[in-house]
Amino acid sequence: MYTKNLALIYKGGDKQLRTTYQYRLRPTKQQATEIDRWLSMLCAQYNYLLADRFNWYEQNCCPINACPLVCHLPEFRDNPDYYSQKKTLPELKKTHPHYSEIYSQVLQDVVRRVQVTFDRFLKGDSNGKRSGKPRFKPRDRYRTFTYPQMKDGCLQGNLINLPMLGKIKVILHRPIPDGFKIKTASVTKKADGYYLTLSLEDATVPAIKPDFNPESITGIDVGLKEFLTTAEGEVAPIPQHYRKSQKRLRVIQKRVSRRKKGSKRRLKAVKQLGRQHKKVADKRKDFHFKTANNLLKKYDVIAVEDLNVKGLSRSKLAKSVLDAGWSSFLSILTNKAENAGLLVIPVKASGTSQDCSRCGAKVPKKLHERWHDCPNCGCSLHRDHNAAINIKNRAVGHSVLKAKSLLSNSRIVLEAYTYHEVEV
Ligand SMILES: [Zn+2]
Repeated sequence: MYTKNLALIYKGGDKQLRTTYQYRLRPTKQQATEIDRWLSMLCAQYNYLLADRFNWYEQNCCPINACPLVCHLPEFRDNPDYYSQKKTLPELKKTHPHYSEIYSQVLQDVVRRVQVTFDRFLKGDSNGKRSGKPRFKPRDRYRTFTYPQMKDGCLQGNLINLPMLGKIKVILHRPIPDGFKIKTASVTKKADGYYLTLSLEDATVPAIKPDFNPESITGIDVGLKEFLTTAEGEVAPIPQHYRKSQKRLRVIQKRVSRRKKGSKRRLKAVKQLGRQHKKVADKRKDFHFKTANNLLKKYDVIAVEDLNVKGLSRSKLAKSVLDAGWSSFLSILTNKAENAGLLVIPVKASGTSQDCSRCGAKVPKKLHERWHDCPNCGCSLHRDHNAAINIKNRAVGHSVLKAKSLLSNSRIVLEAYTYHEVEV
């Protein structure tokens, strides 16, 4: 099985928000045959391009003093790269005319795939982690091809228009989120059928809003019971359906651990677990997007606790353990704010729940104490509400300019999920 929980990627330097949605495809018999035929041709081409690169290394990278009698000088040519390999495609179409029945961008994408695999092997990925030597793929392991550029309006009703394959029925179990555009489309063949993976980009044009109202400011605090509380005392509760699906996740997790390793029943439960994980992740993401939108509709500036500070207090840690989703919510919020010309200001987190938001006195309280009662000034508030006001007050001191530079310095690190291939 193959689960995907790609949430956000920063593409190069641009700040567009990307996300992927996966749907089931229902091709007709003819379309399915055509997809299979493409896959086998693309697989052959993939292996051919890989072999081409290996050959070059064998011919050019052997040590100069090793066996000069056997190592004849190869015909001189440059190290094959993306561009040189791409240039071979028109020739391929001449010698093997059936390749011209594949959409040309899909064919070109195979060259890119070879390039990516090879780069990862030679240079490592963005974290410098190198992967093993690229392997030839047997036909049944080559399961995906990609349309790297989709046109506007390619999805009409429940039909996706894939050039040279035609219009294929999609099971749209959830709609494309508002303001998103389809950038790429991949077709994958899995054990249980065909899938369409769409990569989506937030197409909302960043409205420059230099005259935003610095008075329209709030602070938000994470809660144990509520997802967040604002300085105005509004709460965003964690949706019931999210809690339910998480509960179910735990049930299935137990099921997996109870069943015997290697058994069919366990395998079934593992598959179930993968599906449930995806469900929970999808629900959480939807909830995060909605919550961020609601906040930015109401406020121009939002103060949050800076998570990049070392030595988070124990209670904060407890919270972050409870729901690791907070930091991914903050990334979404920050991105949305930037795209809308608004601000998210991270402030120092220490003491926000202990200090009185009215008089500043220290009112120590333990994690289970949910109410703030100040013996000094008589201020009485919910604990999270009090903290949110403190967070807001810490941001108020910033001039807009100062705040802007602060924002660019302390960009909240995006949790860049990548494709996780889970072999079961
Ligand atoms: Zn007080």
